[in-house]
Amino acid sequence: IPAWPEYWEKNKSNIAKTLEKTEKVEEVTAKKVSIWQGDITSLEIDAIVNAANSSLLGGGGVDGAIHRAAGSTLKKECATLGGCRVGEAKITGGYMLPAKYVIHTVGPQGEKPDKLRECYENSLTLAKENHLRTIAFPCISTGIYGYPQRPAAKVALSTVKKFLLENKDIDRVIFCLFLKTDKDIYEELLQKYFALD
Ligand code: ADP
Repeated sequence: IPAWPEYWEKNKSNIAKTLEKTEKVEEVTAKKVSIWQGDITSLEIDAIVNAANSSLLGGGGVDGAIHRAAGSTLKKECATLGGCRVGEAKITGGYMLPAKYVIHTVGPQGEKPDKLRECYENSLTLAKENHLRTIAFPCISTGIYGYPQRPAAKVALSTVKKFLLENKDIDRVIFCLFLKTDKDIYEELLQKYFALD
């Protein structure tokens, strides 16, 4: 292996091209992500993600809000799906929601990063498989399921970043933040995970 300066001299145009390409990918990825504070059921978008429970038959928090806004037909479709395991994701129509589809995923109870990562990965994969281009996530597991907010945000941001770097199919990921505390955390962490300098 040649010494680094020699290697650089020989390959500098290739290295520069690679660096330029990497920066562009990072830049494009950063532009696809946004945060928004409010009720996820109001978003007119291809898919909203539901932080459901394994029965998929509705519950409290964001799950309750989505079922109320979508109407009872959502529950009827959910009842045909045979439930959903922790980390898995299943898709249904959006019914009376402005969103076209709902992707239901079941977060872990407590701080289990691998399972939470699966929720984000499987939801994005399902969106991609169904040719959906815009998707909004609530802060999965951080309500009733008790996952601490900041560690959960780190898992959410790192998983979405990795997916967007590796897949070109999704145009926009919105982190829908219901609580001011989550908005503050995401504002800070977005700089770290999607900084362009
Ligand atoms: P989990 O059982 O996965 O913890 P929760 O619904 O209890 O799910 O909480 C997940 C997150 O969703 C929390 O940050 C909560 O504040 C938020 N949330 C509750 N209602 C809504 C809503 N209508 N839109 C978006 N986020 C919501």
